[in-house]
Amino acid sequence: MDWKAQISAAIDAKRALLEEIALSIGQHPELGFHEVHASRLLAGTLEKEGFQIKRGIAGLETAFSGSYGRGRPNIALLCEYDALPELGHACGHNLISAASLGAALGLAPFLDRLDGRVTVLGTPAEETGSGKVILVKDGFFQDVDAAMMFHPSARNLLMATSNALDAYEFEFSGKAAHAADSPEEGINALDGVIALFVGINALREHLPEGVRIHGIISEGGTAPNIVPDRAVARFYIRAPRRTQLDWVTAKVLKVAEGAALMTGSKVAWHAFELGTDNMMPSDSLSLAFGSNLQRLGVTDIEEFCEGRGSSDMGNVSRVVPAIHPYLSIGDGLIAHTAEFAQASQGPQGLQVAVLAAKALAHTAVDLLTDPSILEAARREHRRLLSKESGTL
Ligand SMILES: [Zn+2]
Repeated sequence: MDWKAQISAAIDAKRALLEEIALSIGQHPELGFHEVHASRLLAGTLEKEGFQIKRGIAGLETAFSGSYGRGRPNIALLCEYDALPELGHACGHNLISAASLGAALGLAPFLDRLDGRVTVLGTPAEETGSGKVILVKDGFFQDVDAAMMFHPSARNLLMATSNALDAYEFEFSGKAAHAADSPEEGINALDGVIALFVGINALREHLPEGVRIHGIISEGGTAPNIVPDRAVARFYIRAPRRTQLDWVTAKVLKVAEGAALMTGSKVAWHAFELGTDNMMPSDSLSLAFGSNLQRLGVTDIEEFCEGRGSSDMGNVSRVVPAIHPYLSIGDGLIAHTAEFAQASQGPQGLQVAVLAAKALAHTAVDLLTDPSILEAARREHRRLLSKESGTL
């Protein structure tokens, strides 16, 4: 039996455990940075299987790393495990965890016979707090040669870009007054927020293709007969490349200044979440994953699409060749819905987590046994980075 067949058999032998873990995380949804149950369960399972575990890395209580093997290359398998408010695991991160865990457990027995190691990284708060950005900043990818994970979806897709994202909160302050009796005494902070929305709408005509700006008013006054002295808006600003986004965000901040000037209010802003960079999927590693998927019997695979969402995996893809392929857990599903949450605990979801574990492990074996693949990925990564650093 060849290596890959043996690894598939090792993963199949763990199938019941992987399904149990996917369901346990699925049934105990935890929000970003509060994933105590999920991170304990995953790190504890790896520890029992002989992985060296570090808990609470990068100052994050629910982040962890688990390593097996020695030397290089070092292949990182990433686990996400945060859920969404009210909807639970409506992005299927419980399946991401089970797949990366399964791949690591399947590879471990073979790492005793190979140079190189596997590091499982538990990365909290993908949805809101961008745990991977903090791990990247703290150097947790410095000795990593490739980073891999899969994401559940309605389609099988090898490579998708994502938008870079900035998250800004704008606080306008004015002066309260009786809205009917002495409006001339008031300064309307809500007018500042409305002018911000109008100004951003005017800006849209002059922005690069693929930019997305979407906001909400989170505070807009307390009663119609009081001139609002405080109003707050939150915006996500996104663009296909970080260089473009820096340019767009600077324009949005100018609009906020203008909105304050024209209404006589004052404005202050801050990033309410960490920004993320756009995803640059590695061609050669994604294609290697695709060949392994085909060998595992998957036939309907799309190669590439431009995505408009955002993920902290983008920041990982800046520092190391990285893949973030998608596998279908049900036709027509839309992420962040109750139906998706159900599918992430259904039979197809669980089956796909095991399939993803095998395809990830087989791709890791390719990298551990054929150094030319990683060399090509490194060259391509340097090319991608230099292309990105251009202007608009
Ligand atoms: Zn997700």
